[in-house]
Amino acid sequence: MSHGAPTSDAAFAQRVAHLGTETVFAVSAEAAALAAEGKTIYPFHLGDLNLATPENIVQASLAAIRAGKTTYCPNAGIPQLREALAADVGGARGLAYAAENVAVQPGGKPVIAKFLLALMDPGDEVLYPNPGFPIYGSMIEFLGGVAVPYAYLEESDGFRLDLEGIERAITPRTRLLILNDLHNPTAAECTPEELERLAELVREHDLLVLADEAYFDVRFAGKSRSLASLPGMQERCVILYTFSKKYAMTGWRLGAAIGPKPIIDVITTLNVNIESCPNHFVQYGAVAALTEDQSGPREMMATLRGRRDVALEILNATPGIHCLTPETTFYLYPNVTGAVKSTGCAGHESFRRLVLDGTGVSFCTRLHFGHALEGEDQYYLRLAYSGVSTAQIQEGLGKLKAFIESYN
Ligand code: PMP
Repeated sequence: MSHGAPTSDAAFAQRVAHLGTETVFAVSAEAAALAAEGKTIYPFHLGDLNLATPENIVQASLAAIRAGKTTYCPNAGIPQLREALAADVGGARGLAYAAENVAVQPGGKPVIAKFLLALMDPGDEVLYPNPGFPIYGSMIEFLGGVAVPYAYLEESDGFRLDLEGIERAITPRTRLLILNDLHNPTAAECTPEELERLAELVREHDLLVLADEAYFDVRFAGKSRSLASLPGMQERCVILYTFSKKYAMTGWRLGAAIGPKPIIDVITTLNVNIESCPNHFVQYGAVAALTEDQSGPREMMATLRGRRDVALEILNATPGIHCLTPETTFYLYPNVTGAVKSTGCAGHESFRRLVLDGTGVSFCTRLHFGHALEGEDQYYLRLAYSGVSTAQIQEGLGKLKAFIESYN
């Protein structure tokens, strides 16, 4: 028997056929290829930040390397970080968590697979948002579950969870629900009433929830709410926490699963099996991030707010485009149905290509966040303004506006 790399599809495990990906990385590669040919590209596609990690976090991590924190550490993370996360995440949600409720992870993303590995049996149905972060559907199906999408509906004041759709989709096989409130890509957030209704459904149908709160602390006004804070929900929710967004630490790969101890214990055993422990020395940087002065994230939010406002002004002055003003995330999800029609494009992808070729503005569309659901007849883009300067926004979206106007 050969132990070389599989040479035909038949040699791969069957589950590989169900493994998805983040197609946004293909858009990045395409944009990079165009840039290498000398074309000016305005990168609105990737939710990465072009802002530096705050200096105190860098210094604390460097000091930890020099102090020899380069060995393995406890599988669930260093106790100081677990305690600091329990206090920070619990405090912001009005909940009591202890270190034992926290399993530190190499990023927020691994919490998705580990939640499913711990709680989903093959054939279990899992509700997930579509449009939504593409890894949910990929991992549910890769691990043998049944991915059941639910929608977000555009209303005059924002995107709403399709609660009726969720209710209709629940069957006796439904075990888990994934909620990404403060939502990528729509930037939607649930009203207190929506969270209450969702909590009722979760209790009534005895579901467990992955509360992906990657953007909980990325907000311009108001206060974030967590489903976990509602009665009976703390014991049903595993919170996905990440340092990536709030502290501009995407490449550091640090996050956490926070939830009921029995689930966190299994997730910690998954840590043992998969990576032993999260990176040791960056956890000291993370303790500094949580416990020291917050001027770094405050300045970052002020910068992002300036970008958001410039982008919104140009988008809403462009014919056939309208965009709501979100108070959270660093994404805009404009409805571009009129512009798609005026340019004669057949759909999302042809519009994306036309605008990329015509202006250099690179973005994702609704289709990078799942497949279109039955009855969908509107077109949407997702613009990330985390990786572009205000000058690039002005220039790039200015070109986009002129380009669309030339068709009207
Ligand atoms: N959840 C959502 C909704 C996201 O948008 C992202 C990153 N784009 C993640 C989780 C994972 O981020 P990370 O692994 O960097 O923490």
